[in-house]
Amino acid sequence: MFLHNKRLMYTVRVDEPNPQFARLLLEQFGGANGELAAAMRYFTQAWNEPDGARRSMLADIATEELSHLEMVGQALVLLQRGTPSAEVDKVEGDYLGDLLEGKHEDYIELSTTAPASVLSGGGAALMDSSGKRFTADWIDTLGEPSADLRSDIAAEARAKIVYERLIKQCADPGLKDTLTFLMTREIAHQQMFESALAALVPNFPPGKLPGDEALGHTYIHDSDSFAGPADDAPVGFDLAQGNNTWGFELDADPIGKAAEQQIL
Ligand code: MN
Ligand code: MN
Repeated sequence: MFLHNKRLMYTVRVDEPNPQFARLLLEQFGGANGELAAAMRYFTQAWNEPDGARRSMLADIATEELSHLEMVGQALVLLQRGTPSAEVDKVEGDYLGDLLEGKHEDYIELSTTAPASVLSGGGAALMDSSGKRFTADWIDTLGEPSADLRSDIAAEARAKIVYERLIKQCADPGLKDTLTFLMTREIAHQQMFESALAALVPNFPPGKLPGDEALGHTYIHDSDSFAGPADDAPVGFDLAQGNNTWGFELDADPIGKAAEQQIL
C-alpha cells in the first residue's frame, strides 16, 4: 500500500529558472540511470525476492527512489517556471500559421535550447536529456541475487556519477544543494547493496554451477602487444593477479592449444 505524504523528502531549492539545465536534469527523471529506472529496478526485484531481509531492503530503497523522482520532478518544474509553454506562445502567437510568417528561426532556437519536454507542455516528462522515451529495456534484472546485486551496485555508481556531472555543470547554489543530497543518497544505497552482496556466502561464482576449476583460474594471454619474451611483462595478467585472492595461472601460448577445428 502506498500513502502519498505531500512533504518532500528534502527541500528542493532552485534559485533561478533555467530551462537549459532542466533539459540536462531530465537524465535523472526519465533516463537510463534516473530515479524512475531505479525505483522500477528495485521494486521488481523486491516482489520476486524470497529472502525477507533482501526484499525489505529492496522495497525500502525502491520507495526512496520514488521520493527522489518526486524531488527531481519538483526541480524540473521550478527550473521551467514561465517556460516552455509561455515562451512558445510568445514566439508562436496564437496559431500555427504564425510559424509560417518568418518566425521559424526563433522557434527552432527555442526548441533546441529548451527542455526536450517543450512539445509536451513543459514540466517533467518521461524521457532522458536527449529526448529518448523511458523504457524498461534499461532495467537488466535477471532474478539471481548475486548477479542482480552487482548490477544494482553498478546502477548506484552510475546514478552517483550522473549527479556529480550535473553538480559540476550547475551554477545555482540552491539546486546544487538539492543535487548533492540526491547524490549522497546514491552513495548510501551503493553501500547498502555492497552489504547485501557480502551477506550472500558464497556469492562467487554466481549461481550453482562452479565451472571448470583450471579454466576458471586461467589468464589467457591473447594480446599481441605483450606476446614477446617472458620478461615482457603482461600488464593485464599482473593487474588481474595482483588485486584479488582468486589467483590466476598465465597461459602465455593460447595459439598452441587452439582447437584444430576451423570456422566454417
Ligand atoms: Mn535515487
Ligand atoms: Mn539509489
